Amino acid sequence: MTSFADFANVCREIENISSSLEMTERVAEFFKLVDTEELHIAIYFIMGDVFPDWSDYDLGVGTGLFYTSLSKASGFSVDEIKKIVRDKGDIGKTTVEVIDKRSGSQITFDMFNKLKSKLTLNDVYTTFKKIAAINGKGSHENKLKMLQYLFSKTTPEEAQYLARLVLEQLRIGVGEGIVRNAISKSFNVPSELIERGYMLTNDLGVVALAAKKGGIDEVKELSIQIDRPIKLMLAQVAPNILKAIKDMDNAAIEWKFDGARLQIHKNFDDVTIFSRKLENITNSLPDVVSYVKAQVTTDTVILDAETFAIDEDGKPKPFQEILKRLRRKYDIEMTTRDIPITVKIFDVMYCNGKSLVDLPLTERRKVLHNIITDSSSLSVSDQIVTDNVEKVEQIYFEAIDDGHEGIMIKNPSSPYTPGKRGNNWFKKKPIMETLDLVVIGGEWGYGRRTNFIGSFTLACHDEKSGEYLPIARVGTGLTDENLSELTELFSSLILLENGRNLEFKPEVVFEVAFEEIQKSKNYASGYSLRFPRLVNLRTDKSADEIETLDRIKDLYNSQRK
Ligand code: AMP
Repeated sequence: MTSFADFANVCREIENISSSLEMTERVAEFFKLVDTEELHIAIYFIMGDVFPDWSDYDLGVGTGLFYTSLSKASGFSVDEIKKIVRDKGDIGKTTVEVIDKRSGSQITFDMFNKLKSKLTLNDVYTTFKKIAAINGKGSHENKLKMLQYLFSKTTPEEAQYLARLVLEQLRIGVGEGIVRNAISKSFNVPSELIERGYMLTNDLGVVALAAKKGGIDEVKELSIQIDRPIKLMLAQVAPNILKAIKDMDNAAIEWKFDGARLQIHKNFDDVTIFSRKLENITNSLPDVVSYVKAQVTTDTVILDAETFAIDEDGKPKPFQEILKRLRRKYDIEMTTRDIPITVKIFDVMYCNGKSLVDLPLTERRKVLHNIITDSSSLSVSDQIVTDNVEKVEQIYFEAIDDGHEGIMIKNPSSPYTPGKRGNNWFKKKPIMETLDLVVIGGEWGYGRRTNFIGSFTLACHDEKSGEYLPIARVGTGLTDENLSELTELFSSLILLENGRNLEFKPEVVFEVAFEEIQKSKNYASGYSLRFPRLVNLRTDKSADEIETLDRIKDLYNSQRK
């Protein structure tokens, strides 16, 4: 078994390495040493994840619970801990300090043992799973006990990384790319195969295990598995429709529906629905489950779809209405009645035991038509394959007249590439593109707004360093009601509070409109937005889906042309 101390040690070393090549080497070395049964855990942890992306488990530990557990494990009061956090400006360093100085009453047998912890990766992972499984009455207390147990068993150095892991703030700069290359290096499997395996399984833990156990052959065997969500194929903005259509010879044109993405798995009588963030949202959508059971005539299938709320005329209602349906945990029957929705299926990735991702889009669409009986509640999206630009324009205006967002332009001969934003799917919307940015900080308001968070700092994602880099602030233009709701939403995400300034766990995505992108020395991204305004709260998107720094650079350059 691998000790958590070894993991902490690797994290500390990696933090001091700046070259990604060297980092990869170090991570690869670590993977070689980890026992087979713990390899998947090492993979999630080193990327700062507690569980694989697609998993239903959620640790559910906010800063409040974390401070209390640290307080119980160390003997420091919560207020004292908060003060140290303010002084040090870092949760990891705070944890080292308080665990290092923990009072005698908290000393355990292990600590007498020269503070040598015996925690293994598996111990930590199993405890995390137990914490995630706790819910209902008394859950706060029970989660607290388990966390306290973990912290009381760790040395100060381990506690630092444990704390950062628990709060999903590991930030040692190891992302998916480095882990993929490290797996390839450790087990001698070409990185393209590792990438393909990841695309299909959505779980680098599974890929690493296959690579370790059976090398190239076993990685090649990896495939899509029903009930385990796969990453979604993504679209990019069409910079030039004419060129996009010309490059594709013929383009497959569909409406871009104004709704939310669904990935639907049908496994005989069981239907499971995942959101765009790959969360299991089956319970919120009993109507969709029954449409799928009635209208999809195949035993096992994975479908890609968009759903939107409709008014009496079947026209789409505002985007926020569909989000109310997806987020719903209670009174589901009532909401299902009050907000009727419709489902448009536009792709199929798996059917009757076989992955279809390598088939061209036109072939996948044939399969769709064969296995779905259309109704007004659930149907295959219309698609026209054409190279006639006037026809494409006509479809675009029809979609907008009907209240939808615009069109999708797809390459008819393209495979389904999970998690990829390539040149095979373009989107075209009439309005100036908005940006999806993650909220990383904020500031308490002034005057009448002192009890509200009055402004929010937004960041884009630098894929190279894995960091979220600030690019704008929004605040003006929000009503008191907006601010009060947002303050409530963010209160459980506060990581650090320093005077008026707040740092948040990067989780909430804002869609913002703006006049222009400018170069800026004020923000670490090197760019800023002129007149940014909040358009929507994208609760359907996760922080790893926001704009990248590269895209901001592209947009900036295209503006200048
Ligand atoms: P965006 O969210 O702006 O990146 O645009 C891409 C999104 O459009 C997808 O993730 C889907 O949720 C949505 N969408 C709506 N209609 C379609 C369609 N016909 N094909 C693919 N995606 C669609």
